[in-house]
Amino acid sequence: MAKTPLTSEELDRLTAGLHRMARNLWWTWTQEAQELFQELSPRCWTNLYHNAVAVLHEVSDYELRVRLQDADFANRVRSVLEAFREYMEETDTWGNEHAPQFRERPVAYFSAEFGFHETLPIAAGGLGVLAGDHAKSASDLGLGFVGISLFYREGYFQQAIDANNWQTEYYTLLNPANLPLEPVLNEKGEPVICDVEIGMNKVDFRAWRVNVGRVPVFLLDTNLPQNEQHFRDLTLRVYGGDSTTRIMQEVLLGIGGVRLLRALKINPSVFHMNEGHAAFLTLELIREKIILGKSFHEAMNETRAECLFTTHTPVEAGHDRFSYDLMNYALQRYCAHFPVPFPEIMGLGRVQPKNEHEPFCMTVLALKLSRAANGVSELHGRVSRHMWHSLYPDRPVEQVPIGHITNGIHLLGWMKGPVRRFWRSKLTGAGADGGPGGDTTRFWQKGYRKDWAGALNSPEFWKQMADPDFISDEEIWALRYRLRRELIEFARRRLLIQGQRLTHGDYITFDSLLNPDALTIGFARRFATYKRAPLIFQQLDNIVRLTRDRTRPVQFIFAGKAHPRDDDGKRYIQHIIHLSKHSDLKGSLVFIENYDIHVARQMVSGCDVWLNNPRRPLEASGTSGMKAGCHGCLNLSILDGWWREGYDGTNGFAIGEDSHPDSVEEQDRVDSENLYRTLTEEVIPLFYTRDAQGLPRQWIQRIRRAMVTLVPQFTTQRMVREYTERYYLTK
Ligand SMILES: *Cc1c(COP(=O)(O)O)cnc(C)c1O
Repeated sequence: MAKTPLTSEELDRLTAGLHRMARNLWWTWTQEAQELFQELSPRCWTNLYHNAVAVLHEVSDYELRVRLQDADFANRVRSVLEAFREYMEETDTWGNEHAPQFRERPVAYFSAEFGFHETLPIAAGGLGVLAGDHAKSASDLGLGFVGISLFYREGYFQQAIDANNWQTEYYTLLNPANLPLEPVLNEKGEPVICDVEIGMNKVDFRAWRVNVGRVPVFLLDTNLPQNEQHFRDLTLRVYGGDSTTRIMQEVLLGIGGVRLLRALKINPSVFHMNEGHAAFLTLELIREKIILGKSFHEAMNETRAECLFTTHTPVEAGHDRFSYDLMNYALQRYCAHFPVPFPEIMGLGRVQPKNEHEPFCMTVLALKLSRAANGVSELHGRVSRHMWHSLYPDRPVEQVPIGHITNGIHLLGWMKGPVRRFWRSKLTGAGADGGPGGDTTRFWQKGYRKDWAGALNSPEFWKQMADPDFISDEEIWALRYRLRRELIEFARRRLLIQGQRLTHGDYITFDSLLNPDALTIGFARRFATYKRAPLIFQQLDNIVRLTRDRTRPVQFIFAGKAHPRDDDGKRYIQHIIHLSKHSDLKGSLVFIENYDIHVARQMVSGCDVWLNNPRRPLEASGTSGMKAGCHGCLNLSILDGWWREGYDGTNGFAIGEDSHPDSVEEQDRVDSENLYRTLTEEVIPLFYTRDAQGLPRQWIQRIRRAMVTLVPQFTTQRMVREYTERYYLTK
């Protein structure tokens, strides 16, 4: 292409384009775009934790213009920006074909947390990650969609482990100017300000816009000088503070969220509540209709026709409950707008509306005011029907109106860079991996850029993984080795930074920590006690023996955060770190601090086995195991949540049966035995049975089966389509 220097206009265009692209999360799931930012300053890329906006702050516009004089770099920028423009302007989408009405009147999706990327740490766990993936797939599908959440300027906590192996929490202030956020402004260029009534106060808020491809997600922010400090701090931390903070955050999310949409002249056709946190939005929709002259009951019925609800957990503590006094305090002024006495509003959140002793439950409110509701896996749907049967006493339990849509993940977003390149070269038949930018031009020019995401999500693409002519055992095994090594090097680097000592006084040699040839088992998730992180160490002596086996060693990598007020969860962390430092497991067990999206991506890609041992049926779905498949990592899991649907006997490993004992003690005992049995009788032998070429053919066969059967099934692409067809479009 052109060897002549770029014109000044062209330089302006490319520089502006890069700045615009940095503020659209599209780049986070587009490898070629990500590589541009990475290449601008590899050092800053790492130090600024993969923050494209911050990298562009570091690199001056002058430097950028100079760098663009490199014709190859300029060409790549040009083609990536062209692909970005095409993506943004694409009209030939699934959404336009199947749900065109949402273009004018979108689906509004309310969630207390969204997990998009490691640079915007405003999610506490799986619920937020799911919401982020939902938005990304809504964008890919071209669905009319808008998200609502809060801008927590200190985000979710960062984890540090102290000298007693005890989790401590610290918070860092997020600076909107250095994040992929844009202020929401009015015609005059000033921030749009809305307000909500909380207690006897009027609390103002503004909003930030996250561009998730074609989809906006608005984050509400009360940190305005006109608000009293404790209201400014409402949006300080994810699930921060006590139940007073919680109810006020939920008033802001639900009621404030509707008001922001109205201020922006967005008129949704459906309001989707992702978990009960957002359920106060129903009150605001009722209030709007009352102002228009509707009776309370008409307003309720019309609101119900607009709302959908997804419940996410059978764990009691996951369902917010507020006392009469707290409700009365938070909503007293607001409820003066309603033509019914306050106790009647209270009744909307009670199973027995007139029972004065019953607290107000957000899940009950959401169920009563939705036209449809669902759980997040088949088993969770069933469990939820039992859980909420008392709300529908005149129906048999099978007819409780809670269905299910099984969760998924945004496939491209979760793929590690080398794996995106690997699958792309498979798709284009380009052969060897070209390294960063290697076959980019060819890829774009071949016209795959539109189809790439579509192809990658299609069952047809993954069906080919059964075919050794399409992909050889050697290629799969080479990829596995590369990914395991990358994880181990990542873990060593992190442990060096963590300064973990294995023995008093002398540092371990980090380069000899973990074995790049050993069967690597990963476990990372929130340390909620029902997830039973230390279960496998109940058989400590046996596990030590497995790690010490010279010919068939296994090793473990753990990560995860406990809720700041969950001392039991913190004791689990303490126990595991203690074992990693002071037991015979040292060197074969490590704990990586500060679990987040980046750590998750390293782990689900590099581990050979992804372990999940929740106390059934409390894992409503679980999604981390879904991220494993496209990387060739196999699941070893209790038949709970999604795995009960995913496992078919050939595509991973099951711990126990499709049932569970009634008593918790019995369950823990049986599950621990079954886990050990499956590990020693199935997992380890399969991994270490090598043929003359040194390949574990049967293991690779399972990887193929996992790719064919699981990868295209457990995506948010499939999930969002299901929501659209079964819930958004039907009344
Ligand atoms: C995927 C993910 C989760 C959810 O994992 P589960 O298996 O559902 O518990 C939680 N946190 C992070 C950072 C994740 O990436």
